[in-house]
Amino acid sequence: MIDEMRLKILTEGAKYDVSCSSSGSKRKNEGGMGNGYAAGCCHSFTPDGRCISLLKILMSNNCIYNCKYCPNRLDADVRRVSATPEEIAQLTIDFYKRNYIEGLFLSSAVEKSPNDTMERLVRTVKLLRTQYRFHGYIHLKGIPRADEALIREAASYADRMSYNIELPSEASLKLLAPQKSKESLLLPMKQLAREKAVFREEKRKGLFLPAGQTTQMIVGASPEPDGQIVRLTQSLYRNMGLKRVYYSSYVPVVHDSLLPDLPAGQLREHRLYQADWLLRFYGFTAEEIAPENENLPLDLDPKCAWALRNMHLFPVEVNRAPLEMLLRVPGIGGRSAQKILEARRYTKLGFEHLARMRVVLKRARHFITANGKFYGAENETAVRGLLTAGEKNENAEQLSLFGTSETALSALTGEL
Ligand code: SF4
Repeated sequence: MIDEMRLKILTEGAKYDVSCSSSGSKRKNEGGMGNGYAAGCCHSFTPDGRCISLLKILMSNNCIYNCKYCPNRLDADVRRVSATPEEIAQLTIDFYKRNYIEGLFLSSAVEKSPNDTMERLVRTVKLLRTQYRFHGYIHLKGIPRADEALIREAASYADRMSYNIELPSEASLKLLAPQKSKESLLLPMKQLAREKAVFREEKRKGLFLPAGQTTQMIVGASPEPDGQIVRLTQSLYRNMGLKRVYYSSYVPVVHDSLLPDLPAGQLREHRLYQADWLLRFYGFTAEEIAPENENLPLDLDPKCAWALRNMHLFPVEVNRAPLEMLLRVPGIGGRSAQKILEARRYTKLGFEHLARMRVVLKRARHFITANGKFYGAENETAVRGLLTAGEKNENAEQLSLFGTSETALSALTGEL
């Protein structure tokens, strides 16, 4: 049984990985315990980065690699501990039965060798699935440079796997994570994407990574601008079929002369998540969101910034604009755009209708007409001023007609 001291170190060591959020998977309960599907897995993050309701744990913090930003790197003066597959599997079941958790997020430092570590990770999930008949959600971190056969076996038991890109360029990896390379991280992702496609095509029985793959990038530990990060993200979605790319703003937990002394700041991370939404749900391309060598503006969300660069396309009439254009209007989210399409089949929409559809009018009004009416500011400078002021004080009501809890709603749903 795993003792408290090791449990503390191994769970503490896993908290910096944010790629474990889950959207559930298609795994059915066929007579054992747990369910990876019904409610997905709760995935709340506490302020210090812990993901609650998954047991988020390392198998070992005893690493042979020396990634400069990592508290578990070879050079670090920390207590080294490991757990066995049997201990982790038993702990997962014990916690599950006590209703502490709904699933497992299992990662590990590279102990001894990539294959040795990966083999023990696979053994853990195999034990859970076959011996304990656990059908709950399992997210497994892949170990770069492990054999293809181990990766394949892991994917037949896990719901989701992730290989963390960590740094957005080969040059930064060489400098800050010298034992890793872009190729060693991308190859297993490619393998999983390829094998999942074949599995689906051949309509094989069972499951192969039903919740897909994710990855994480550290933002601000190295000099790559957001434009480059957004392009890499786009290519990961297009070429690897990733479910999510997570961004983790750099926090200096160890001192190294090659690393910044200050944290990267949450706002930059937030802007990247907004850009990520634009890529996945709003039909934007990375090239539209930010020039390759620039960061995203901090004073405006990336959709507003794009609209301001393209004022010649606005205003659009909400009663006629196609879906693709509605989705590009700041303040009209995916759900509002669908509601507009549906409602305008029956009536001419005015601003009062849009307010009821939860369109964020204090942003959208500068870019739309509704039934010919326009309530926006006169020129681009004025629009920019109002939008940046709105960003600064989200809760300020700018006009009584438009003052609602729209901003709070947008923050909750992620709609832009
Ligand atoms: S491989 Fe790198 S990031 Fe992972 S535990 Fe080892 S030193 Fe840390």
